[in-house]
Order: sequence, then C-alpha cells, then structure tokens
Amino acid sequence: AKARGRSTVCVFAPEMEARLRDRLQMEADLRAALAEGQFHLAYQPIFALPSGERCGFEALLRWNHPTRGPIPPDAFIAVAEETRLIVDIGAWVLRRACTDVGALPGTPRIAVNLSPVQLAVGDIAATLAAILGETGIDPARVEIEITETALFTGEQRNRDTLRRLKALGVRTVLDDFGTGFSSLSHLRLFPLDKIKIDRSFIHDMAEHADSAAIVEAIAGLARRLGIDTTAEGIETEEQLAIIRRIGCTEAQGYLLGQPGPLDGDRRS
Ligand code: C2E
Ligand code: CA
Ligand code: CA
Ligand code: CA
Repeated sequence: AKARGRSTVCVFAPEMEARLRDRLQMEADLRAALAEGQFHLAYQPIFALPSGERCGFEALLRWNHPTRGPIPPDAFIAVAEETRLIVDIGAWVLRRACTDVGALPGTPRIAVNLSPVQLAVGDIAATLAAILGETGIDPARVEIEITETALFTGEQRNRDTLRRLKALGVRTVLDDFGTGFSSLSHLRLFPLDKIKIDRSFIHDMAEHADSAAIVEAIAGLARRLGIDTTAEGIETEEQLAIIRRIGCTEAQGYLLGQPGPLDGDRRS
C-alpha cells in the first residue's frame, strides 16, 4: 500500500504542477493583455419584438493572445475571477462599451456582462458612476447583465449593490435565466428590468413542448410584473416564430446577428 501511495504521488504531482503553472501563466498573460490592449469587444445586436427593430447591443469580451491567438471568454473569465483581475478588466469593458455605443446615432442600448466578483469586490457602483459621467451616455441606455446564480446564491451584499446600480438609472438584467436553482417567485425580490431566457430552453423549444411551456410561463409572468424578456440564442426561423407567438419582447441570436464590430448604420 505504501508503494502504491508513492507511485500515486509520482503520477499526479507533475500533472498538478503543470496545471498550476498554466494558471500562473494565464494570470500573467491576462495582466499583460490589459496593459497592452489585447482585449476588444464584439457587439451582438438585440432586436425588439414584435417590430423587429434593432434596439441595442450586447458587449462580448474578446482576447487576441499574442502567441495563442483568439481565446474565448469561457476559457479565461474563471481565472480572471479567481485572481480578481476581472475587476479591472470589467471596468475596461464598461468604459469601452459606453464610449463606443454612446457615440452612435440614435439611442441604442448597450448591455454589459458583470461578474459576481465585480459585485462582491471593490465599489462597482462608484466605478460605473464615474464611467457614466466620463462618457456622458444616458444611464437609461446602459444595461447591466448579472447571472441568476450570482444574484440569488450570492451574498446579501450583491443584492444591495444591485440596488445601488439601479439607483444610478441603469437597467438591470437577469442573465441565463432558468439555469440556476431559483424559482420564479424570486423575481419580485429584485429591481429587475429584464430577464434573458437561457438559450438552452430556446434550443429545445421546437422539439420539446416542455421547454416551450417553460419559456411561455416565464414570459407571461414577466409581462405581468412589467419585466422585459429577451430570448437569447435564436438560431432558426422556427425558434423566432415561437418566441414571437409567446410574446418575448426581445430576440438575440446568430439568426439575427453575429457578434462583431459595432455597426451604427441602422438607427435604433
Ligand atoms: P452570455 O452572457 O450568455 O453571452 C452570450 C453568449 O452566447 C456569447 O458567447 C455569444 O457569442 C453566444 N451566442 C450569441 N448568439 C448565439 C446563438 O444563436 N447560438 C449560440 N450557440 N451562441 C450564441 P461568448 O461571447 O463566447 O461569451 C460567453 C460568455 O462569457 C458570456 O455568456 C458571458 O457569460 C461571458 N462574458 C462575455 N463577455 C464578458 C464580459 O465582458 N464580462 C464578463 N464578466 N463575462 C463575459
Ligand atoms: Ca449576457
Ligand atoms: Ca446569457
Ligand atoms: Ca452564459
């Protein structure tokens, strides 16, 4: 048994060491990325229903690594959160997004994703207030997206912070709704302007009547509570037709527009 214990250590230790090294490297790379301007934003359009007019954009973080090439957010946000670098990266995202979209003609909205770490660490309300002042964008055009898990399982402090954000005049959005463990009754506890129904439900709707029923129930309750609903991940005409019938107030997805450079051509 003793020999096996030793061999176990020999087998796993190098692997763990390699993982730690990768993480430390990623942390150093993220710091450099922020300092050297390797991040940029892709903007995905969001459309109002039933009109179909573009009403805004979601800002999505992109990292072009000098040697590894493009790295998707799902591959680095977790490390950015663990190291709290997301606080500075997130402030950069807010400033960039408000500057870019604030300069467009018309009054399109800009939605920015907020990490739970940004709610818990530092003073995001003060940061956002400063950025709103700097950029001069109407706060009513700014939407802050927070995931259900971050809000409902987070500290009481997260909820207080959300109220302080709301007090600045920005709109609050519950992202990835349906993926966490909350129930619909949670909705009335928070000052929310919009719910984004997770794309897993949208994806299943056409084949599974259950998923369509869930989306319909969420949209119906939200409507009665005066909360908007975005269906995200719309990829087919069939999905779009269903969410139109159900009465979601906004749609987003590859069918309607890919994330990309900001296109201010059509006025919103
Ligand atoms: P999310 O907030 O749910 O953003 C939507 C994701 O779905 C984006 O992936 C978008 O490109 C993708 N998407 C849009 N339409 C479709 C569609 O029709 N089908 C499919 N399959 N996917 C679609 P992306 O850009 O890779 O971002 C992944 C996640 O990374 C985001 O999920 C968000 O949680 C996080 N993220 C992105 N940017 C930021 C940021 O600036 N700050 C923070 N904290 N998180 C971010
Ligand atoms: Ca989002
Ligand atoms: Ca989402
Ligand atoms: Ca997501």
